[in-house]
Amino acid sequence: MSTTRVCVSLAGTMAEVMAGMERAAVLGADLVELRLDLMPSFDLEALLARCPLPAVVTYRPKRAGGEYRGPEEERLAVLRRAIDLGAAYLDVEPDCVHLLERRGGTRLIVSHHNFEGVPRPLAAVHERLGHLGADIVKVAVTAADIQDNLEVFDLLRRSRMPTIALAMGEPGAISRILAGRFGAYLTFASLDAGHEVAPGQLALADLLGMYRARHIGPRTRLYGVMANPVGHSMSPAVHNAAFAELGLDAVYLPLLVREPRRFLETFTPLGFGGYSVTIPHKQAVMPSLDGIEPLAARIGAVNTIVVREGRLHGYNTDVDGALDSIAEAVPGISFAGTAALLVGAGGLGRALAHGLADRGARLTIVNRGYERAQALAAEVGATARPIEDMAEVEAELLLQTTSVGMHPKVQESIVPRVMLRPGLIVYDAVYNPLETRLLREAKEAGCITVSGLGHFINQAARQFELWTGREAPRQVMRRAMLERLGH
Ligand code: NAP
Repeated sequence: MSTTRVCVSLAGTMAEVMAGMERAAVLGADLVELRLDLMPSFDLEALLARCPLPAVVTYRPKRAGGEYRGPEEERLAVLRRAIDLGAAYLDVEPDCVHLLERRGGTRLIVSHHNFEGVPRPLAAVHERLGHLGADIVKVAVTAADIQDNLEVFDLLRRSRMPTIALAMGEPGAISRILAGRFGAYLTFASLDAGHEVAPGQLALADLLGMYRARHIGPRTRLYGVMANPVGHSMSPAVHNAAFAELGLDAVYLPLLVREPRRFLETFTPLGFGGYSVTIPHKQAVMPSLDGIEPLAARIGAVNTIVVREGRLHGYNTDVDGALDSIAEAVPGISFAGTAALLVGAGGLGRALAHGLADRGARLTIVNRGYERAQALAAEVGATARPIEDMAEVEAELLLQTTSVGMHPKVQESIVPRVMLRPGLIVYDAVYNPLETRLLREAKEAGCITVSGLGHFINQAARQFELWTGREAPRQVMRRAMLERLGH
């Protein structure tokens, strides 16, 4: 098992950095980086004397992407002083390695930062740095696309000297998580969310807790959610909690994907066992798959990919996920013959229209775009009505599958209040917030309410079971999701 070192980058006032060093140690970091150029003033001797962890001293000049703007000689004097004080590491620019005489145990990291993109060939940049006589080479590039990580991984795999390589920016976040898999010397984290000193840094608690980055090695099985945007996805918290609970050597990643075909072709061979697929890729991935289960093919949307012997198999776990969550909330419910009103004919609406029609529900579909409702109704043998007529539809079960009411527009509801009467079962796919305006009003009117939480957990649990063949720890997944939602 690999033991990736995790280094927390610190910046701010003396008091903030001092407190940060202590907290980083308590939270389990291996090193701290003291970004002297991001401190308004500092007492280097006090910092190093009080630091509970080995320190990387960085005093980055403006020309290399830092904030130090003073005379070079003064900067070098501070770096030399750090060596005299026994700093564990110095992170320096290529043009000053030869100006720093090493004594004691201080190790030099020579680093190249590119805030624009990936300099190519990246291997040439690495090789040039490798000849400067430092102990460790660091290459930090900027990922415009998730594909840019591949060059970083390749560099790490081929490197014969200790190397730190990472891609900055949100698409590059996986390079920070997977550092250990490819043999990086260390990976950087921020102390807390909102205290990043470089774009795309993850908070220490997430890197160590949610992603278990320290334990990620060459044999770790990879999973992730293909999405755009991906930043607010609950799936990494939920699936990683399940992997940890079962002690599986697996990690689930946020995958900011723009081109699904290219992504699947190039990333699957890295050791992916499966993917969750969400907006906007549920349909777009389908031509790239080797097989699609009949229900997903009929719906025309895949939310789960399982990789078996390099081949990609598509599934849709939303239908069972949503309908099971309703059955859990309303024991004994039979969908056969039930008058159901489906609001929304997007990806989820399509899935539930097929699922409900298969179960024999008497289905009416409304959607903002009426033509979409009509087409879906014709496909599954349902009735379409203009959305303005929604209140006239007699229903025992109402399924809200649009994004209306979702954070941050929590004051919105697509369902007229007059429709809400005692006994009506109201399911809302939205899970953030857990209680939408629709569900609040439905509860007040005496309806039976079903939030999107149960659906989310059910569809994720089914994915987990398809990937691992193990029973999903639903309670653990649920708890992880509630924690992420701030409950
Ligand atoms: P989608 O394919 O993009 O469909 C969006 C649907 O919402 C369409 O019917 C669209 O109508 C409608 N819509 C969007 N904005 C609207 C507005 N301002 N007024 C009226 N209608 C509007 O998305 P999806 O994959 O079906 O997901 C829909 C929602 O379900 C999202 O909030 C998603 O988070 C949630 N969801 C939850 C779970 C879960 O596990 N609980 C699983 C999947 C999805 P038009 O056709 O007129 O554009």
